[in-house]
Amino acid sequence: MTIHQNLIGGTWTGSNAIENINPSDTSDIVGLYARADAADVQAAIAAAKAAFPAWSRSGILERHAILRKASDEIMARKEELGRLLSREEGKTLAEGIGETIRAGQIFDFFAGECLRLAGETIPSVRPNIGVEITREAVGVVGIITPWNFPIAIPAWKIAPALAYGNTVVFKPAELVPGCAWAIVDILHRAGLPAGVLNLVMGKGSVVGQAMLDSPDVNAMTFTGSTGTGKRVAMASIEHNRKYQLEMGGKNPFVVLDDADLNVAVEASLNSAFFSTGQRCTASSRLIVTEGIHDRFVAALTERMKSVVVDNALKAGTQIGPVVDASQLAQDMDYVEIGKREGAKLVFGGERLNRETEGFYLQPALFTEATNQMRISREEIFGPVASVIRVKDYEEALAVANDTPFGLSSGIATTSLKHATHFKRNAEAGMVMVNLPTAGVDFHVPFGGRKGSSFGPREQGRYAAEFFTTVKTQYTLAG
Ligand code: NDP
Repeated sequence: MTIHQNLIGGTWTGSNAIENINPSDTSDIVGLYARADAADVQAAIAAAKAAFPAWSRSGILERHAILRKASDEIMARKEELGRLLSREEGKTLAEGIGETIRAGQIFDFFAGECLRLAGETIPSVRPNIGVEITREAVGVVGIITPWNFPIAIPAWKIAPALAYGNTVVFKPAELVPGCAWAIVDILHRAGLPAGVLNLVMGKGSVVGQAMLDSPDVNAMTFTGSTGTGKRVAMASIEHNRKYQLEMGGKNPFVVLDDADLNVAVEASLNSAFFSTGQRCTASSRLIVTEGIHDRFVAALTERMKSVVVDNALKAGTQIGPVVDASQLAQDMDYVEIGKREGAKLVFGGERLNRETEGFYLQPALFTEATNQMRISREEIFGPVASVIRVKDYEEALAVANDTPFGLSSGIATTSLKHATHFKRNAEAGMVMVNLPTAGVDFHVPFGGRKGSSFGPREQGRYAAEFFTTVKTQYTLAG
């Protein structure tokens, strides 16, 4: 098997490799991927630093053309890349292809943004002076991504970084180097000058940490766990660098008595269990008012019985495996914790055997949960959800907001009054009415508040806040 190497200063390099394993079939090796060390990271940062002056002043048409070309290739190869994604991460083929299309759309969007960079001209408060406000690239951007969206999250960080004239050192999660390597290869062949985009694969504690420790990384964008996010923050403060964090969630989905039962059940099923519950926007707290509680639990449980959990690449599979053995162990631990805490396991939670050896888990639903239980407070990051029974809308809103996180928040209701009130009062970065808490557009801001996020929003035009820095210029008119 050939080794997929790191890209440093425009050269593919590295011989120390590890196997990328398919979580749907552990006998299937997706490929061999190089592991960088701290010296490789220093070289990548030096290459990005050297490439920055020319790239940041490059013509907007050049950047536009490269990002467009990358988008076109991703779209043209969506089936193949979607299959690679499903093979290395375990989400279903339909989800893998959908995520790949999303990446293509993101590169297309930011190709357009290259041509729409604008500043402002404002009169000075002093006579005969003009004021211009312009946006400039920040410098070398460090990008650290998690395993659960192997192509979309790298895309939504790399595309704006390059569009606004930054150079990049990119470290993907070690579990999913395949999609990361593929998009770096596509961008490299699309014509990026040497050093503008560098790929350093490998362990977070080695590669990620070396990025955090470097004074030459001017901005750091991170998506992952709260614990690692804190490390990124501390190191960035130390180096006086800009940073942006997207971390966990414990997203609530409220179901009111007046909800359309079908809408509520389908949105809950999707939010809690699709993509194996491995989405930061997944809903693991289903907060249900007492008038609809029993009908909702009965209908959701019935619906869960028909969901097909199997090999991600198999036709008909609706939920793929958990990403790896340690995540599966963590999910199953939480099922035990929920039982011990006194919640009632009404469906699932057991390991499943399928034709191929993989990390299959039957989605689990608890009832009789309280918002104080660990299963209601800590992010599980798997297909495990619990129903919390509440008296009325007011209690539902209070419980929804009673969490250290604040990424996404949803409600199922036919009441305009409650929907409007919820949109205004949910303590979250994104609010959904009669829609799953997961599933967002690529051209509008993404992000949360409280313990979920820090710094400017990602995606859409709001991405410019992080990937550029503002300059205010004064000129005497003469
Ligand atoms: P981690 O925080 O463990 O990993 C995220 C990235 O950080 C990986 O690339 C990892 O490398 C790297 N990393 C690990 N240790 C260090 C370090 N010391 N210094 C620098 N980088 C490091 O999270 P997971 O990838 O395991 O993802 C799961 C978690 O991420 C969940 O809690 C989930 O909620 C959250 N998440 C949040 C999202 C959001 O948008 N809010 C989206 C997706 C996930 P390696 O993989 O090699 O260990």
